[in-house]
Amino acid sequence: MWNANVPDRFPERIVQANSIDDVVSAMRAAKAAGHQVAVRSGGHSWSGNHVREGGVLLDLSRLTSFTIDREAMTATAEPGLGGSDLIVALMKQDLFFPVGHCRGVGLGGYLLQGGFGFNGRALGIACSNVTAIDYVDADGELRHASETENSDMLWAARGSGPGFFGVVVRFHLRLSRKPHFIGNVATQYPRERLEDLVRWIDRVGPDVPPQVELQFVISRNPSFPPPLRKATRASPVRIELAATVMAESRSAAKAAVSFLSSRPKGARIRSPLVPTPMGAMLSAVMQHYPTAKWETDNLWTHASADELLPHLLRVADTLPPPPAHMLWLNWAPQADLADMAFTVQDRTFLSFYGGWLDDADAEATTAWSRGNVAAMQSLSTGVQFADDPGRPSRGVSESAQARLDALRAQHDPDGRFHRWIGDS
Ligand SMILES: Cc1cc2nc3c(=O)[nH]c(=O)nc-3n(C[C@H](O)[C@H](O)[C@H](O)COP(=O)(O)OP(=O)(O)OC[C@H]3O[C@@H](n4cnc5c(N)ncnc54)[C@H](O)[C@@H]3O)c2cc1C
Repeated sequence: MWNANVPDRFPERIVQANSIDDVVSAMRAAKAAGHQVAVRSGGHSWSGNHVREGGVLLDLSRLTSFTIDREAMTATAEPGLGGSDLIVALMKQDLFFPVGHCRGVGLGGYLLQGGFGFNGRALGIACSNVTAIDYVDADGELRHASETENSDMLWAARGSGPGFFGVVVRFHLRLSRKPHFIGNVATQYPRERLEDLVRWIDRVGPDVPPQVELQFVISRNPSFPPPLRKATRASPVRIELAATVMAESRSAAKAAVSFLSSRPKGARIRSPLVPTPMGAMLSAVMQHYPTAKWETDNLWTHASADELLPHLLRVADTLPPPPAHMLWLNWAPQADLADMAFTVQDRTFLSFYGGWLDDADAEATTAWSRGNVAAMQSLSTGVQFADDPGRPSRGVSESAQARLDALRAQHDPDGRFHRWIGDS
């Protein structure tokens, strides 16, 4: 798994599929032997949802084929394919899909949980661009689900995330045109500007144009690790504000980010709008996600700046060393969701990436991530399965949960597939 914080759980056997036929055979064999099945595509589940005690771990990481139909603006993709690989191929053909922000994240888990991708506020949560799936069911039958065939399985596949009860072997995707201009505005603040920044985002966030992803990351500046802290007057905590914009022209992009003129003063670094290749964008994000051990937790919220600030000041002042960091994502949904299992979203997403390189930091970093989210529970309206915290949590609405439970009972009566790890 990608997270080096590997859980203390051991499957009885691991099956590596080289083809869809292998998946069919594996599911039939699991049924005959009475084994439960956990599915892995890209292995990027933070909680190691695919690593379960006993049973079969079905590894789809070799299923990476894809097709692109430029005229129809559609694609098919197998689940082991990384979104970062798909986007390279699409952009060569002037096409686009809201893939995730990091290299290597598998389309399998990414699309099932929703998928917060590049230009996702304009193009919609990635799973809303999944038009059909091919899947192997609990009996080992290869099936197709679309709006008109097995439509309840398509409904479930769009948002049930690590609780899906089937093996998706191919996604059918609706594409869009590649934006003509892709760029970024970066601003870096010291810790002292956190309050101004939060009050500003609280004010402008809901009106940020959909083609702009506005977010900030709070982390400890790697140049000022704890031993040097007292020796310098510079703040050891940095806040990186990023506005990524995708538009039809540079002038349209400029207009879309014009709200940044009101951003707080006191920045240490302030870049103009610069065209940014996707590769550079992915590399910039990946700086925050080195190979490390991680404990993540998160919350959706529409709490006000006044409600959030006491917590965020504590978050900043208790930051563990890098790579631990907190992300504030201004999601501020602008359109109604399609009818699908993905049902929980809110104005702001806060995610606590408790990562450590030295095991001596494990306990404090875990407590920082878990403890801060626990302290903010009264402000939380749910969690994102994207950063699956592996604890009991509200990742879909109550009615979607009831429908998923009923569909699971119908499609997987013997419990061949695991439930969400937080439920077990
Ligand atoms: C560094 C990093 C960056 C990330 N960035 C983003 C981001 O920008 N946006 C975003 O939305 N998310 C992001 N994520 C979260 C990521 O989308 C989820 O962790 C997702 O589940 C990973 O998919 P995977 O296939 O790689 O993971 P896996 O661990 O292989 O799968 C996760 C779970 O999904 C289910 N699953 C996977 N494939 C299948 C399948 N084919 N059929 C049935 N069930 C399946 C299984 O229950 C499995 O346990 C990121 C994660 C990491 C670690």
